Order: sequence, then structure tokens, then C-alpha cells
Amino acid sequence: MTPNDVLEANAEAELKAYEAQIRKELGLEAEDINHFEKPVEHKFLRQSRETTTVLFGGLTMAHDLLIKRAVAGLGYKVDPLEVPDNDALTIGKEFGNRGQCNPTYYTVGNLVKHLQTLRDNEGLSVPEIKEKYVFLTAGACGPCRFGMYEAEYRKALRDAGFEGFRVLLFEQSKGISQAAGDSEADEGGIDFNKDFFMAIIAAVMIGDLINDLGYQIRPYEKNKGETARVIEETKKIVGDAMEAGQKIEPVLKDIRKKFDAIECDFTRVKPKVKITGEFWAMTTEGDGNYHMGSWLESEGAQVQVEPVSTWVDYLLYIAKHDLKKAWGVPDKDGNKFSHVKAMKTYALTSALKVYFRGRYDKYRKLLGMKAFALPDQKKIHKLAQQYYNIDLRGGEGHMEVGKNIYSVLEKKAHMVISVKPFGCMPSTQSDGVQSKVVNDYPECIFIPIETSGDGEVNIKSRVQMKLYEAKVRAREEFARVLDGYGFTMEQFREYVDAQPELSKALTTFPHEEVGVAANFLHMVAKKMKVHYSKKSDKLMSIEECERLAREAAKAEGATCVAEETDEVGCSTGTCGDSLPGETKERTPEETVKAATGEGCGDSCGCD
Ligand code: SF4
Repeated sequence: MTPNDVLEANAEAELKAYEAQIRKELGLEAEDINHFEKPVEHKFLRQSRETTTVLFGGLTMAHDLLIKRAVAGLGYKVDPLEVPDNDALTIGKEFGNRGQCNPTYYTVGNLVKHLQTLRDNEGLSVPEIKEKYVFLTAGACGPCRFGMYEAEYRKALRDAGFEGFRVLLFEQSKGISQAAGDSEADEGGIDFNKDFFMAIIAAVMIGDLINDLGYQIRPYEKNKGETARVIEETKKIVGDAMEAGQKIEPVLKDIRKKFDAIECDFTRVKPKVKITGEFWAMTTEGDGNYHMGSWLESEGAQVQVEPVSTWVDYLLYIAKHDLKKAWGVPDKDGNKFSHVKAMKTYALTSALKVYFRGRYDKYRKLLGMKAFALPDQKKIHKLAQQYYNIDLRGGEGHMEVGKNIYSVLEKKAHMVISVKPFGCMPSTQSDGVQSKVVNDYPECIFIPIETSGDGEVNIKSRVQMKLYEAKVRAREEFARVLDGYGFTMEQFREYVDAQPELSKALTTFPHEEVGVAANFLHMVAKKMKVHYSKKSDKLMSIEECERLAREAAKAEGATCVAEETDEVGCSTGTCGDSLPGETKERTPEETVKAATGEGCGDSCGCD
């Protein structure tokens, strides 16, 4: 025993004696307190892996399916739950504690609903369900209600008649060090090893990228439903490869071609709407956020959702931040601070972060670079820190505020929606701060919404009002760019229609404006300027222009007369072209050069 321990024990004994004395003086009986104790469930062990189905869920449909296939490839039986709906919410409220946040009700209710279906529709008895199924979920120690999820699952399961159903917790802060709820002697049913995590990471990243491509392509597809079809095909191909343990890189290369073959019309002017907010509420694709993503698309918006990978990147970023802050401080057990240990942990976390972002970029590149890169966490931190302390944790922490400012300054979105579940404390805090952000950045169109499962019409009509502002903003932006180039919309469309490669879904644009159509116009207009014939007042395709020039050059004695005005013509005369106001015969070589835009970029003046 250390001297500190002795002091503490003495103080404790003194306190107890004093409490007993006061109780006696006041005539109070000694309290009989029954503390909650974690119920003892029968273990999920290695030997029952083949006969036990691991239930999980909570991400998007693409993620859930790919995780299922990737983990199945490692020999597990896994099954994702359905996307939680309002029935799940009702069941969650029926069996859960009062005053929980919305995601708790939806997710807890969703598990109970699934077990009820197994019992009532598929005829399994409760002991069979308990024997053949386990539920794996993420957990944490808080600071918000996230820390209570495990207890909520157990309470609801008990009250719904499934007491003893096994809930396995993967704690995000403990990572792979935890066992699957088993003693040291036995091998756990889930082996949280490198292969397991690599499979999950690949599934999450590819799920993110497929979703991202879907949201970027769908609003512009020429044939309705084509993107959805390609996404379904893609999920199947990637899933098959993952389950078979094949290398994923060549598969992604093939998939890129499928996406690229979707024909798009990027001249459609649409506002870009970023969905941010609490992690579950912004990620789910069901009643939990009123199907916000698909509904916004049906209202004419292009939606941008945050990849799940951003969340992992954020966790690694704050882990590094915390390590820096804890420099020199002994650990919670009073052990002396070790520089070597701290440096090793910091280096390992940094390496993990670099690896994680690198892998994301690699997959992104294989899929054609159209999907967005992960945002820079340092930048988000810097932008948010004057409004929201990074040490305030829970929910998305400072990210909600940082991402809103990031969207404005980096021209990422015309409008930002923050989806806040009913009863969510961290999101309520950051929404409070957002009013100051909106004040400081008046150009930002921001709307926080609270999702409670009801009031859908009211919420959607509020969003529609803001969306109208975003639509106006997108149209104004496009009109300004079009005006700057001096073309008409018809000329722009005519040119795009004549160039099939501009309809390819994976075409990438310069990032000069927020909207896709405006950025597309920037790219196309630069090409159009070269091939716009002032003389015939029409846009000429590259082929048409070149053909005319070659014909002129080949024909004996044919000349090409440059008719320069003040607006066009080479101002220096260095390319052999005439100066403004002059007329000059070009040589055949000059003719070809001018016509193909290789010379001074003059318009084609071929006779
Ligand atoms: S962040 Fe909010 S909604 Fe999410 S678990 Fe915590 S309190 Fe609930």
C-alpha cells in the first residue's frame, strides 16, 4: 500500500463513521441501495461462430450491405437490420426509458422490432433467438447519451421479453484491445483482429464513395433510374469480390467505367445542399431524418452527405489533439508520464491517420476522382475554434460549426442543413452557436432542423423556404458566369450536345464556383471560345473547325484571310497573325494553327 492509499482509506473510514453518527442522531435507517449491475449473459464464443448470426446496423444501406459481405468473407454470419422506421421509433419509446434522444429510440426499437419479427413471423422461440443471434453495436463512455446505449438496449430487450439477449459492444475509444465479452481462457466469437478491421474499413470507405458518386450523378442523369441501377450492380460486384477475398482495386477500376457510362446533363442548374448534424441523424436514409437526402433531390437539389470516414478521421484527429494536451500528465491510475510511451502512441495515431486518408484517396482515385476528398480536420478545427471549443465532445463536437463555415469559405455548398435529433444535447449546443456563425457569414444559408419522428410537413416546409433561397443563389451564380463569357444558354447547350465526352458522369470540373453547372460552364466556355466562329456566328466543333482548316490548307492556292477587329486578333503579332484592324493572308500552316486554336487562340476566320 502506498502512503496515498493509506491516507485515502483513513479518510474513507472517517467519512463512514461520521455518516453513521449523523444518521444515528437524525434517526435515519441505513439505506438499502440496489445498484444496477450488468446482467450476466451467456458468452459468444468461437465454437458457436458458425451457428450464430451477428446483427448490426445504423449506417446507410450501401455500408450495411458491404460490411455484411466483407465480414462474411472472414467466416462470420452477419445480417444488417433494416433502416429504422417510425415503427421502430414507437417500439423504442414503448420499451425505452423516458427522455432519450431520437437515435436511441430508433436504433433500440429497430433491434426489438427485428427480434419480434423473428419470433412472431418466422416462428423462432425466444430461447432459439437468444441462442442463434447476437447484436453488435458501437459504444462509448459518453459524454452524451451515446454512453447509455448499451443499457438502453438491455432494458428494452428485457421489457420486450428478450432478457439475456446478447449485446456486444465495440467501444470506439478502446479499439481492437477489447475482447468479445469473454474470459481470457476462451476465444471470443468475434476476433477483433487486423483482418476484421481492414475488412470493415474497406467496406465503409467504398460505401462512402458509392453514396457520394450517387448523390453527385443522380441529379444530372439523362435516363432516370440509371444511377440507382449502376449503384445496385456496383454493390453486388464489390460485395462478391469482398466475400471471395479478392483484391478490391481492379474491381473498383472496372466499376469506374460503369459509372462513367451514365449519361449526364451538367447544364442543369441546381443548388448544392450539404447535410450535416448529428452523426446518426444525418447518415440514416429513413424516417429518422424524413428521408432528407432523397426528398431534397426530388425537390431539385444536389445533396452532399458527409462520409462515415470523416467521422473516423475526426476520431483520429481528436485522439492526437488529446495526446498533445496530456503531455506530461500522469495517467488516471497515477502512473508516471512516460515520454517514450506518449511519443509512440502519438506516432502510431499519426501513422494511422495518414494511412486512413491515403487509403480513402486511393479508392477515390480508382473510382475516377469525382467523389469528394475527406475534409481537412485541421482546417475545420481552426475555423470552428473561435466559436466552439474542441474539447467539448459528444455528437459531432466542433465539426458541425466548422463544416458550416468550411462550406461557405471553400464554396462547397449553397445551403447547409443541420439535422439535429430530438433531445440531442451536443447538437443543441452547436445549433446555438450557429446563430453567431450565420451573423458573421451573412452569405451562408443555414437551417437547423429537429427530427422527432413527427412534424414532417412542418419541417419540410421550413426547408423548402430555405431551399428556394439556395435555388435563387445557384441561378444567380450561373447567370453571372454565363454573362462573363458572353454566350447564350442555347450556344452552351449546343456545344455540350455536340461533345459526347462532356456527358460522361465522371467528368470533373474546375472548382471556381459552388454549383456544378457554373463550374461546368467555366470548363466548357474555355473550349468554346476557341471554336466559336464570329463570322458565321456559330459554335464550331473541334472536328468541323479542323476539317475546314485542313481543306483550305490542302487546296492549291487557297488562302485564309484573317479579318481582325478590335475585339479579336493577336495584340502582339508574335504568332504571325494580323494586328487588330488589319487584314492579312495566312499561310496554310497558320490557317491550321488558328483554326485549331494552337496559335494565338483566335477565332476561326476561314473562308
Ligand atoms: S449526439 Fe445527440 S443524438 Fe447522438 S447519441 Fe448523443 S445525445 Fe443522442
